[in-house]
Amino acid sequence: MALMGSPTPLATTYAEARSEFLEAVDDADGRLISYQCPAPGREAENLTLDVAAFGPENAGAAILIVSGTHGVEGYAGSALQQRWLRAGRLHVGDDVAVVLLHALNPYGFSWVRRVNEDNIDLNRNFIDWDAPLPHNEDYDGLADLLVPTDWSDEAQEATTTKLMESAIEHGMEWMQATVSSGQYRHPAGLFYGGAGPAWSQDTLRAIAADQLAQFSRLAIIDLHTGLGPAGHGELILPGGPGDPAYERAVSWWGDDEVKSMVEGESLSADLSGEWLSRLPGWIPGTEVTGVALEFGTVDQLEVMAALRADHWMHAHGDPTDTGSADVRAGMRAAFAVDESEWVDQIDDRFNWALQRVVL
Ligand SMILES: [Zn+2]
Repeated sequence: MALMGSPTPLATTYAEARSEFLEAVDDADGRLISYQCPAPGREAENLTLDVAAFGPENAGAAILIVSGTHGVEGYAGSALQQRWLRAGRLHVGDDVAVVLLHALNPYGFSWVRRVNEDNIDLNRNFIDWDAPLPHNEDYDGLADLLVPTDWSDEAQEATTTKLMESAIEHGMEWMQATVSSGQYRHPAGLFYGGAGPAWSQDTLRAIAADQLAQFSRLAIIDLHTGLGPAGHGELILPGGPGDPAYERAVSWWGDDEVKSMVEGESLSADLSGEWLSRLPGWIPGTEVTGVALEFGTVDQLEVMAALRADHWMHAHGDPTDTGSADVRAGMRAAFAVDESEWVDQIDDRFNWALQRVVL
């Protein structure tokens, strides 16, 4: 059991996280529906997106807690979901259900990647695919430096130096926005949004229709890691002042705590295609208040180095080779801190956020 007496407080593999999650769901008498992901697991294991519901079946409101939108970030997210289940705080209100969505991107969870089976960042994939694609012209100029074909020590040093020069010339904010706001032209590149709706998007849409549309009010906490100071948890909203969802979030968590992505208050760049903005349109009869809860891990440069190595390996290297273990270890260290103190810290913050939801 990873949560009790194990040297690491987080699961070591997707399969372990999933089996512990399912056990906790079963012990808490949850109602489980699993969706089979067609992509292969790293250890040839079955990949699923699991949805577990608790509380009154005919509740008027629900809290949805999501892990693994960005695969590898699910190690922390899954642990928080399991801790919540094991803590026995299942009753959050007489008319309120809780729905846990485990591993929105199970492929990335299994392969220790942020992206899915098609190198897609799910939170750049939920754009309107009938409209012209957003174009990130500045990314084009950095694409070959970010993910070069050659990953020798010399190539890494040369490309990193050039990227640093660009960052000094244009500023770190420009660099972060250019690299992370999303791009649709480089399928092997970073923060790639895809060429159409991903499996996870289609599946989430089906879940929304079948399991969420019935609620008149829905709060969402989407769990993320990898941005911000270690252990810090920022509440990030896609909207801004004037949006009813934003105003509700401010009334729950406080003006100082809620960071708007569009207002430039957040650690996150303003980006295109995240699912929290898209979901309300699929369930128009439901009043939705959704936030991303983003926990800091390690320094941004370390995160960027891990992402570049991971993308290089999946585009030009061999992710099944024994040498790939180092790259995965770098990804894991960038997005999951295997220390009890860090996990306790993010767990406290998560429970604080959860307790302030008013439905
Ligand atoms: Zn994330």
